[in-house]
Amino acid sequence: MDPFAPLGRFMDDQQRVCNYSPGDTPDNDCGAEGTWHVMWNVAAEVSFACDPHMDRARSRYVFVDSHQTGPDCGMPGALWDLDGQRCVYPNEPSAAAAMAELPASVQGTP
Ligand SMILES: [Zn+2]
Ligand SMILES: [Zn+2]
Repeated sequence: MDPFAPLGRFMDDQQRVCNYSPGDTPDNDCGAEGTWHVMWNVAAEVSFACDPHMDRARSRYVFVDSHQTGPDCGMPGALWDLDGQRCVYPNEPSAAAAMAELPASVQGTP
C-alpha cells in the first residue's frame, strides 16, 4: 500500500488554502486558510493544509516535510528550504543572510 497521501487535482498554490477535498471534487473542498505547507512526497509535490487537516494528515500519512505557512510559501520561484523549515527566494539578500547564519546556530546546539 502506498504510504503517501493521495494527491488530488492540481490546485493554485498562490491561493494558499487547504487542499483537503474528500472525493476530490470542488463541492468538498475545505478552502480554509492554509496554515501549514506540506511536501507530500519525494517528487516534491506540495500543498497547503489547515490545522485540523494537518493533524489528520499527520496521523494517517507519511510525508516528507512540513512547515507553518510563511510569506513566501506558494509564491512563484520560491524554493522549499528543508533545513530552514520555510520557503525562501534564494536570490534575496535576506534569505542569503539567513542561510549564512545557519551554521552558527547549528554549532550552538549540543
Ligand atoms: Zn482543511
Ligand atoms: Zn512553504
